Amino acid sequence: MIIILSHKATDNNKNSVIDRLKKMGYKVDVSEGKERTLIGAVGSNVENKNEVMAQFMSLPFVENVVPILKPYKMVSREIRERSVIKVRDGIEIGGKEIMLMAGPCAVEGEALMIECAHMLKAAGVKILRGGAYKPRTSPYSFQGYEEKGLKMLAKASEETGLAIITEVIQGRDVKKVANYADILQIGARNMQNFNLLKECGKVDKPVLLKRGLSATIEEWLLAAEYIVKEGNPKVMLCERGIRTFETYTRNTLDLNAVAAAKSLTHLPVVADPSHGTGRWELVSPMAKASVAAGADALIIEVHPRPEEAFSDGQQTLNFKHFKQMKKELKPVAAAVGRTLK
Ligand code: PEP
Ligand code: MN
Repeated sequence: MIIILSHKATDNNKNSVIDRLKKMGYKVDVSEGKERTLIGAVGSNVENKNEVMAQFMSLPFVENVVPILKPYKMVSREIRERSVIKVRDGIEIGGKEIMLMAGPCAVEGEALMIECAHMLKAAGVKILRGGAYKPRTSPYSFQGYEEKGLKMLAKASEETGLAIITEVIQGRDVKKVANYADILQIGARNMQNFNLLKECGKVDKPVLLKRGLSATIEEWLLAAEYIVKEGNPKVMLCERGIRTFETYTRNTLDLNAVAAAKSLTHLPVVADPSHGTGRWELVSPMAKASVAAGADALIIEVHPRPEEAFSDGQQTLNFKHFKQMKKELKPVAAAVGRTLK
């Protein structure tokens, strides 16, 4: 349910409601708007929900009490307008500025990560991507440098000050990866790895949740709900393309999902036109389309020499193309009231 306090409500009134809800076993989300405060309460097993709602409704400082109708409750836009996720000082996702996360598909070595980090920093990027754990379709493909790769990312971050986003593929690695990463990435193939989702819900690090290859929007949002319900509200959704009958592109970047996720949830939405298209020459046009559709950030595969990349080279931009894309993105961002630095 959502308890809407009237503008007369004091801090004491608000805190008394929160305490009472928590005692009843509810998880509570407080959203302070300009006009009024909304208290979202979900997850309690109380049986007499209608009476509980009526009790809160009878309080003089409560304006209204309404049920949350969506199956995903804590991520629903019914309980708050927008979430802005702070990654580090000066790096926020979901605010006015469009954030770029960029780097190679896989962490391929320390020197390469440092080279990438310097080039990307010079191009204004604040978040470096790279997979140390690679969930590959074929067991014979490069599987990543694992913890050694995390150390390479840490080194690149130390040298340049860039924040790090990297994938975690199993629940038991979450704490270890969180020691190195600023953002934990959950890959498309793991969107419904519920143990992994719950473990990511127990750490104090932002999580980027990729949409599964064949997941509906509702399944994706319910996966996000797992993380938030466990106690970590810092979740961003990432549309990375879905399986369709089309074979010319690797996946079909579903821009409907970007717009839908923005209207159904308060979470920031990220688009991944690299995996969404599978072709480097389509990355820039779809990046621009994603921003126009409301994406708060983009995650882009970039490599100094894509033809030598250990993985996903065919969808990876070189620096020249990356810089050109960024230049073209600026007026699109401005047209939808956003900035891109
Ligand atoms: C990646 O970001 O390199 C990756 C493996 O993405 P996805 O999980 O979307 O396939
Ligand atoms: Mn990749």
